[in-house]
Amino acid sequence: MAPPPERTCIGCRRKRGQAELVRLTNAAGRVVPALPGAPGRSAYLCPGETCLEAADKRRAFARAFRGPVVLDPAVHRAVARHTNVRCSCGSPHRSEPAAATDERR
Ligand SMILES: [Zn+2]
Repeated sequence: MAPPPERTCIGCRRKRGQAELVRLTNAAGRVVPALPGAPGRSAYLCPGETCLEAADKRRAFARAFRGPVVLDPAVHRAVARHTNVRCSCGSPHRSEPAAATDERR
């Protein structure tokens, strides 16, 4: 058995198990969540908006993908969803992030 793969979060630069991180890939200049096992260059982020914002601020995406890229809104949803899935009660929660555009009143 190979040891579990470790990847570095491009937001906080900490190493974590690959399964704990959100995998992102470059689709024609847009950063989008990658499907597991998808080929191509990829970058990893911890779940949660903190590392996403940190990576954005320090232009880590352009560095990771070697060129200018724009962040797809799906990335925000992916990191938010990942966080919710890790709730200690063990059941998957799906709440949209507070910044969701779909406002109901
Ligand atoms: Zn991180």
